[in-house]
Amino acid sequence: MSQPIYLDYNATARVRPEAIDAVARALTSVGNPSSVHAAGRAARNLVETARADVAALVGARAPAVTFLSGGTEADALAIDSGVADGVARLIIGATEHEAVRETAAASGLPVEVWPVDADGLADLEWLAATLADGPRALVALMLANNETGVIQPVAEAAALVRAAGGWLHVDAVQAAGKIDIDIDALGADTLALSAHKVGGPQGVGALVAGPRARLTRQLHGGGQERGVRSGTENVAGIAGFAAAARASSRDLPALTAQSAWRDELAERMQAAGAIVLGAAAPRLPQTLCVSTPDYASDLQVMNLDLAGVMISAGAACTSGKVKPSRVIEAMGQADLALTAVRISGGWATTEQDWIHCGDVWLEAHARLADRRRRVA
Ligand code: PLP
Repeated sequence: MSQPIYLDYNATARVRPEAIDAVARALTSVGNPSSVHAAGRAARNLVETARADVAALVGARAPAVTFLSGGTEADALAIDSGVADGVARLIIGATEHEAVRETAAASGLPVEVWPVDADGLADLEWLAATLADGPRALVALMLANNETGVIQPVAEAAALVRAAGGWLHVDAVQAAGKIDIDIDALGADTLALSAHKVGGPQGVGALVAGPRARLTRQLHGGGQERGVRSGTENVAGIAGFAAAARASSRDLPALTAQSAWRDELAERMQAAGAIVLGAAAPRLPQTLCVSTPDYASDLQVMNLDLAGVMISAGAACTSGKVKPSRVIEAMGQADLALTAVRISGGWATTEQDWIHCGDVWLEAHARLADRRRRVA
């Protein structure tokens, strides 16, 4: 059998060689960044250089970055900080990640769910009306959705939130490294990032804060990360994150060009009856969410896996058990939810990978249709 093909980058990206090198180098040099001797200073230097590199990925400056354990913690820190800052309610996009939804639900504040249209785009008129009709709010709107790749109108939402004196948190975990991001142009007060989605190691991420955001201490202890997040820094993870961030910026044009390969696959699947979700919305260039009537998501994933192609059914963070995609339900497309799969490429994906995925998917789909015809 040929080499397995990995098309599940939105679950986690293949770790970039640059990141592996950076992690290995950091692990082979001793030093706690808080120590004053030469080894400690070298570790501190590594962390601070990495801070600037991660900041650059989103057009920010180094002091804006707080290193954390991943996207989940970044979303939680943003929301908890907004709550501590005195917002009276939370408004969250209907297709937000569980990290946002569950943190909001646990906040003790009223949570309003901001609806999306059939393509997964948040309704700005609804936001304007809702902001006008109530106290100061923290609004959470993801930049790009993990399942559909749909890119939200964040800058437009930011203008509304700012005018209402609110706090805008943007989960950019999926968008980072896949589209150009500038935190100032977006108008985000806080922005969540995760290393493993850009080809860095798992278990490290960052919250990037704009000038208005006041972050609240999460962990008591040694006062690292300017007192917001105590605990000895994950130096190797942070170094790997930075290396992946630099490589992602460099590779952005190549990743953007992947949309042509993605669209060719979509056309082949559509010709066999599949429906592309979010088709009319701006989307990440390497994400395809597609639903095929009468062809269960888990069966599609299994058939492709048997042929050595790895994709996912719904959000990987919640998969392992088959339940309809909440994101697709929020788009008012519940009838498509149980037959939807997500195919997502990344930095190491080739045109041949997309073509081969289409070949095996079409083959399995034709076999299923044939079997059904024979038993009918
Ligand atoms: N936000 C989004 C949009 C995600 O897709 C994910 C992970 O799938 C997360 C947050 C959580 O990130 P992490 O796995 O680094 O905690």
